[in-house]
Amino acid sequence: MFPKLPQSHPPGLSFKVINSFLGTGDLQRARQLIDEIPQPDLRSWTRLISAYTQHGFPKEAIKIYSTLKLRNIRPDNILILSVAKACALASDLVKAKEVHEDAIRFGFQSDTLLSNALIDMYAKCRNVDGARQVFDDICVKNVVSWTSMCSSYMNCGLLRQGLEAFREMGLNGVRPNSVTVSSVLPACSELRDVNLGRQMHGFVIRNGMESNAFVSSALVNMYASCIRIREAEVVFSNMSQRDVVSWNGILTACFLNEEFEKGLALFYQMRNEGVKPNTSSWNVVIVGCTQNGRNELALELLGHMQDAGLKPNQITVISVLPACTNLESLKGGKEIHAFVCRNWLIEDLKVTTALIFMYAKCGNLELSERVFSLMPIKDTVAWNTMIIANSMHGNGKQSLFLFREMLDAGIRPDSFTFIGVLSGCSHSCLVDEASLIFNSMSRDHSVEPDAEHFSCMVDVLSRAGHLEEAYEFIQRMPKEPTAGAWGALLGACRVYKNVELGRKAASRLFEIEPDNPGNYVLLYNIFVAAKLWGEASETRKMMRDRNVLKTQGCSWVQVRNKVYTFVVGDRNSMQNCELYRFLDEMSEKMRLAGYMPNTEFVLQDVIEEEKEDILCNHSEKLAVAFAILNVNGESSIRVFKNLRICGDCHHTIKFIAKVVGLQIIVRDSLRFHHFSNGYCSCRDFW
Ligand code: ZN
Ligand code: ZN
Repeated sequence: MFPKLPQSHPPGLSFKVINSFLGTGDLQRARQLIDEIPQPDLRSWTRLISAYTQHGFPKEAIKIYSTLKLRNIRPDNILILSVAKACALASDLVKAKEVHEDAIRFGFQSDTLLSNALIDMYAKCRNVDGARQVFDDICVKNVVSWTSMCSSYMNCGLLRQGLEAFREMGLNGVRPNSVTVSSVLPACSELRDVNLGRQMHGFVIRNGMESNAFVSSALVNMYASCIRIREAEVVFSNMSQRDVVSWNGILTACFLNEEFEKGLALFYQMRNEGVKPNTSSWNVVIVGCTQNGRNELALELLGHMQDAGLKPNQITVISVLPACTNLESLKGGKEIHAFVCRNWLIEDLKVTTALIFMYAKCGNLELSERVFSLMPIKDTVAWNTMIIANSMHGNGKQSLFLFREMLDAGIRPDSFTFIGVLSGCSHSCLVDEASLIFNSMSRDHSVEPDAEHFSCMVDVLSRAGHLEEAYEFIQRMPKEPTAGAWGALLGACRVYKNVELGRKAASRLFEIEPDNPGNYVLLYNIFVAAKLWGEASETRKMMRDRNVLKTQGCSWVQVRNKVYTFVVGDRNSMQNCELYRFLDEMSEKMRLAGYMPNTEFVLQDVIEEEKEDILCNHSEKLAVAFAILNVNGESSIRVFKNLRICGDCHHTIKFIAKVVGLQIIVRDSLRFHHFSNGYCSCRDFW
């Protein structure tokens, strides 16, 4: 197939031929040729090994070197250097040690160039001892040797030692260059050591390295990480040439420092100045948006990113999914899910877990389950997410089932697993199961229960009506009981009409969180239900005197692409007139279906949300009515409320679900309620 080479050939021919094939990238042909030459020169072998490494086949390069050794070919320093690079790329420590031994055996340990490459090789294999050994053997250590040694420490995460080596370098009279500085600065960033960073900055100025883009970018990043936005800005504005790395540095600085608007403005400026944002730039801005509540903008930017021809990666997806979760935008979430499937990101554990959480929060537990069941490998976080998703929706038995399955699969539960499964038990009144799990935590799983686990147990006992036990449990807690624990007890006192314990729990809560209006409302409702009018109005007065502000109740629902928000008694728009007409018709149908207004609720909740008239027209009812009027073939509707659902609305929505024959899912501030056919999944405990 290939022309046979003449048996005798002038020296240097093999190199020329090999080189010409390697120039075209045809590694295999070059390899075949070199095997046909009786005695190829070392240069040809070196070139071949380097070519394999450069093309991303370091393991092949190392194999070629091994065959040379079998053939007793004596390598020179350049050949060993090329194999050292292959070992570095392959992170092959065993071979790296062999190459180091060869360097010593063939007498090259004082070769500075080779030694520097060996240090780098050990660093890439994350073996700092090997690097140090090579370094110590070098007679004349130059700036590259010192820089390589510093970077080795950094690569292995030994930041302090890296900085120590940097100091040693100065003491030995070797001047750092821009490569040294830009490789040491990230250590200051990671250690958040702004003093050392400033010293480095001084050194940079004294030595005229400011014009170096790598050094300046590293300085911007250092100040950004140390939350020194002004200094980051100064360095950035003095840069003569700003590349995308330095722009990303300053953007990160702004978002880390909660200078959201400024970061956004800089992002637009960057594009105006003709610097094309890369994937990291978009990711930085999208995370900034979701962390600052600008969820719509995050989704919009995702679109612009794709318009700019950039493909979102897993970091983008993980950053933007919380925006869908926060907006409860099932549609947006589904689009991202489709993107994930098209782009083979579905195998990424973090991406899939974020999808599970998004679907659960958007009220679609079936889709969470589907994504979860398709995961080939599930880690603790994935299991936790699925357990918590079920608990949020009140499926305690399923949480418990998943927990056991997780243990059977040999996955170690952590602190979050137990919070998930215990809160699942509390929503489903699984008292015995919860106690068993709680007692097994430190005994069988070496997870020490913390305040939150204790609160979960108080909640389990309270919801099941074991109020005295719950109170005793709080008093036996080894840690100071949290607001969560007392709050769980107070909530149960309202449901089980226990005035005495309600007073106790509320008085503790008023000390721990005096500004939480919810606690006053609960206590007020307890007094009203017990017809203790005096104490009820006292509670109301206390709230007014302490200037505790009520949170305005509001509900929202997504219809097609738009989110519609409703507040109490909102009769202004045409659309709302229609809603009231619908609700009037509905109450007539409900009356025929046997609905009796629960008068107890009419008195309660007045303090939490004002009522327009005796038939409450709370935001959740308006949102439910709107969603029903706009139903488009779906069998379920989803409504979200910022406060706890009110008793009367809860009672009414059960009937509405029965009359219209739809599943109505309402997420309030505590949990999901699945209403269907006259019942709610919370079993009237909310
Ligand atoms: Zn209501
Ligand atoms: Zn409910």
